[in-house]
Amino acid sequence: MSDICDNLKKVKEEIEEARKYSLTGEKVQLIAVTKTHEIDTIKEAIACGVDHIGENKVQEFTSKMEVLKSKVNYHMIGNLQTNKVKYIYQDVNLIHSLDRKSLAKEIQKRASSSEMVVKCLVQVNIGREETKGGLLLEEVIPFVESILDYKNIKIEGLMTIAPNVDDEKYLRACFKKMISLKEEIEHHKYESVDMNILSMGMSQDFRIAIEEGANMVRVGSRIFGQRDYSK
Ligand SMILES: *Cc1c(COP(=O)(O)O)cnc(C)c1O
Repeated sequence: MSDICDNLKKVKEEIEEARKYSLTGEKVQLIAVTKTHEIDTIKEAIACGVDHIGENKVQEFTSKMEVLKSKVNYHMIGNLQTNKVKYIYQDVNLIHSLDRKSLAKEIQKRASSSEMVVKCLVQVNIGREETKGGLLLEEVIPFVESILDYKNIKIEGLMTIAPNVDDEKYLRACFKKMISLKEEIEHHKYESVDMNILSMGMSQDFRIAIEEGANMVRVGSRIFGQRDYSK
């Protein structure tokens, strides 16, 4: 078995293991994060069973989509510039990084002119880190309410990138805050807003995230090895 298949198998086993301890017991969708990796590497992963991939840069994303077409589902997981929405909105399965009104406006404008609905997650900066995108916890509900009449955007849930720390207690506290927020939004019963998806957990922390209730994880280096950004 190739390294990728082998790594993928291990990650999937760990996902299943973590699910046993998850409070929700929900199925977990694995997004293989393919940023910086070549097409051939991605094809290999697809042959091993990967069916959802995540990318964080629009240009890299579109060039890969041109080649891979409908072989796989696409997730935009990185900060999305408003002027680049036009390149991806028709092909992306889910945008994980909706975090501001100007971006929502642009997605709404494009989607409505194509008579389609674009699925999005609202990104939350749960660790309140200056370097990270996403809304602060207290900004999320006002933001959601401010775009309720954007009928061509379907909010499907929340996404976060947890702080890169080893402190398991702290990480669990972060993930728990996400669950509470999700429940609070559900409680409002907004028409057109679903909280089906909680996208949190990466190579370092996906087990903890799943135990706390994540049902979508974004895993890169555990599947593909360390990324080389110099290429
Ligand atoms: C790169 C990236 C990941 C995957 O990170 P790994 O640590 O390699 O698993 C997940 N989510 C986002 C938003 C990313 O940019």
